[in-house]
Amino acid sequence: MQESKARFILVRMNHPAPTAWLEIDLSAIQNNFRELGRISRTKVAAVVKANAYGHGLIEVSQAVLKAGGEWLAVARFEEAEQLRRNWIMTPILVLGYTPPEQVIEAAKENIRLTLFDARTALQYSTQTSGRGMTVKVHIKINTGMNRLGVDPPEAVEFIRWVSGLPGIEIEGIFTHFARADEPDFDTTDRQIRIFEGVLTSLSSIGIRPKWVHASNSAAVFNFPQAAYDMVRCGIALYGLHPSPDTMLPDTFKPALTLKTRVTTVRELEEGQGVGYNYRYYTAQPEKIATIAIGYADGFRRVMGNKALLHGRETSVVGSVCMDQCMISLDGIDGVQVGDEVVLIGKQDGLQRTAEDIAREWGTVNYEVVCGMADRLPRKYYYSNEGNG
Ligand SMILES: *Cc1c(COP(=O)(O)O)cnc(C)c1O
Repeated sequence: MQESKARFILVRMNHPAPTAWLEIDLSAIQNNFRELGRISRTKVAAVVKANAYGHGLIEVSQAVLKAGGEWLAVARFEEAEQLRRNWIMTPILVLGYTPPEQVIEAAKENIRLTLFDARTALQYSTQTSGRGMTVKVHIKINTGMNRLGVDPPEAVEFIRWVSGLPGIEIEGIFTHFARADEPDFDTTDRQIRIFEGVLTSLSSIGIRPKWVHASNSAAVFNFPQAAYDMVRCGIALYGLHPSPDTMLPDTFKPALTLKTRVTTVRELEEGQGVGYNYRYYTAQPEKIATIAIGYADGFRRVMGNKALLHGRETSVVGSVCMDQCMISLDGIDGVQVGDEVVLIGKQDGLQRTAEDIAREWGTVNYEVVCGMADRLPRKYYYSNEGNG
């Protein structure tokens, strides 16, 4: 279905005509969710941390649940609380550290916490058991990422000890891969072996947590043997490639479009400076447009940014300002104030992807979409009306 015909079902903040905005295709997210289930042949926990990678926590979560999703994962307890406040009652796993002050709330709201530290385990247990409550936890094992997790030599004893603490139920066990998106598979193979070792030792003392999980998006494609009971997918859910070495099949669809509008069209003489600090000078008489997107929207203040206008790709000239920037209209005729500009997404057969921008910014596509500011209204639509 053509983008112009898509029905916008939900406009947060109810802007009939926003200045700069995101359009989020929830059909694409549902399609990607189903593809991940089909390929991994296991349950898919939708990773919706960081405002669903900029796409919108609540709307993305609801779309995933409508498509059959059962598990959500977030980085912080505050994100899980926000889901519960919006009546999303499905299992949620907090992947990061949660302070013991939150454990009663977690137990009440049935929010699963990640546990990897003995002192924290005691603090959780004291709090919950003192109130006759139980918190569900997933134990994190550090198999080589060296970020969070119990180290393998202590893991079995730690889990045996935690399983005897009142007020804590071990519901899951997991690990996280450091290099699953790279062509060199040795590190991940070693991480899987270490994780398997812990699982085997645990089963020899009769412990097998209900949910065993390890894979992120990249591992779903590169390490199908590590699918276990669940995979935790973020980037692929949004239709974005895990890395240049781990590209998604073309059945996946990117969901996010970033748009703004032309606010001024101006003809300048040769030798005129443009914007703060005159980091651009016209080399001849030039037409320049101002557009309403800036670094406060997540459009970074670097040189070499590009934009699509009237089906042509053009360059940002001069410094990106907080709320605006200027683009060259070289070879683009008939531009008027109010015309749509695409920074991420498609326009008349041309496309600018989050991956293009990541390359230009010297970063990863994850950072590009997570950087999309809260002030950008998000317009949600279903491109495929049969779904949903
Ligand atoms: C963010 C995160 C994921 C999701 O990773 P993607 O590469 O976006 O699929 C999975 N597991 C953990 C522990 C994470 O922090």
